[in-house]
Amino acid sequence: MVEHRQPQSKNGGTIIEQIVQQQENMGLSSCGSEEKVMLQCDEKACPSYGKQPLYCPECATQERHPHAPIFIAKKSKNVTNDWNNLRQDVRQLNQKVINWMSAHRPLVEVLDPILTNAEKKLRFQIEKLQLLNNNIESFYEQEVAESCAKGEIMKLQELIPSLNGFKERLQALDYLKNIGTLVLWKTYSEILHLVSQSHVLEKLSQENYDIFIKLKLYKVQLTQ
Ligand SMILES: [Zn+2]
Ligand SMILES: [Zn+2]
Repeated sequence: MVEHRQPQSKNGGTIIEQIVQQQENMGLSSCGSEEKVMLQCDEKACPSYGKQPLYCPECATQERHPHAPIFIAKKSKNVTNDWNNLRQDVRQLNQKVINWMSAHRPLVEVLDPILTNAEKKLRFQIEKLQLLNNNIESFYEQEVAESCAKGEIMKLQELIPSLNGFKERLQALDYLKNIGTLVLWKTYSEILHLVSQSHVLEKLSQENYDIFIKLKLYKVQLTQ
């Protein structure tokens, strides 16, 4: 999504600030120098790859790690940003749908029951979005937040498949960002002829009734 993102004060520090904050929690480097790890080896061709996945500045030599240094703090900051962007995207989409539903719920309540395919029902899709929002927030709180704060890059990288799984679920619901006449049309065009104007007249506000008529007319135009 290309929506404007709020600056994230919580994780908005520089890499150096991040290093200073997190260095305390880092483990000792395996070299015996009593220095804490600060860098990650992600270079398959490196002689120390796999043997020393995290290392201290003392180990950053041409012999041990002949490649550019990658700061743990920077890597974990990138993953943290990915999580926060996902959380923000799903929250914004959910809020947009809630706002739209507050004015159009009666229209959805008239049309949804006519659909025989339960999965196609708009309420079902919206519930899926709310569930996704809740799932992401509780997963983040329980599994991710602490590792982000401590810069636990190995743990954060293990959780990337979960991050991608959530992203896929959001992708499938992304069409809801256009919620309005077009989404209504895509959802209900096949059953509009089953609903009579007189049936909905009493149940809908003028605005929702107008949308219903617009969809009906569109259906008539297309089938002529
Ligand atoms: Zn070391
Ligand atoms: Zn290396």
